Amino acid sequence: MNFINENGRRFSLAGMIDVTDRRKTEADLAALQADFAHAARISMLGELAASIAHEVNQPLAAIGASGEAGLRWLDRDPPNLDRVRNQLTRLVGQAERASRIIERIRGAARSSAPERQSLDMSKVAQNALGLVEHQARAMRVTLDLRVMGGSFIVMADRTQLEQVIANLVINAMQAIAAGEAAHGHVVVGIGGSDGYVECSVVDDGPGLEPHVERRLFDSFFTTKKDGMGLGLSVCRSIVQSLGGSLTAENRSDAPGARFIFRVPRAAAGDG
Ligand code: ADP
Repeated sequence: MNFINENGRRFSLAGMIDVTDRRKTEADLAALQADFAHAARISMLGELAASIAHEVNQPLAAIGASGEAGLRWLDRDPPNLDRVRNQLTRLVGQAERASRIIERIRGAARSSAPERQSLDMSKVAQNALGLVEHQARAMRVTLDLRVMGGSFIVMADRTQLEQVIANLVINAMQAIAAGEAAHGHVVVGIGGSDGYVECSVVDDGPGLEPHVERRLFDSFFTTKKDGMGLGLSVCRSIVQSLGGSLTAENRSDAPGARFIFRVPRAAAGDG
């Protein structure tokens, strides 16, 4: 480094800095970054595995239940073949659902976009309720679908939208089962407001405690013994990817929770 002093004489200043520490710090930092990257990859894999387990578990449980019920009807004397056929039809439906979910996860791994098409929200809700009706009966919960007048068309991926509604209904049934009541009631309502199609899932369970309400949508937040705490965060990200929103509140008219999601209406000509 060159300087000029007050007498106009030029002089140089040479210094030596010991960079051993700096090098070490840089190496530490690089190692830390590598660790972070590794941890992030592992946690992504863990999250993916947990979400596959979560989504596929549901149809698998239903397949098992339908298979067992079918066998029982077959063991009757005489066998009730109509019931066997019903159970097998349900079983095939659930197996198709599981393979659609896996197909979608594969698609996500290839990072291809979900398949959007124009869908009638009330039909999607009907399908979603069909997927959980078996479980509802076992849990002594009545399911109702109430559709306002009008058409409720949205652009979305069918499996994803079914998954959102089925997840909210399953949560509602589990909340009811965790409460005191011997049986419960879940109402899925389809309606609309300006530019949006709205779907509400209302239960008569114990409702949301304040500390739960604050963290509902956090990944891995759960109050259930076997819960994974992914359902609501996955539901919210699906709805948000469609330009919509998902909110939750306690009912004002009676104990219980109300989850509402809104998705933009498909513009005329979409799809
Ligand atoms: P999980 O179902 O695995 O616990 P979720 O993300 O779906 O994960 O739900 C997170 C938590 O939100 C649940 O553990 C439960 O405490 C609460 N919750 C969800 N739905 C309801 C509901 N309808 N009534 C009361 N609590 C609910």
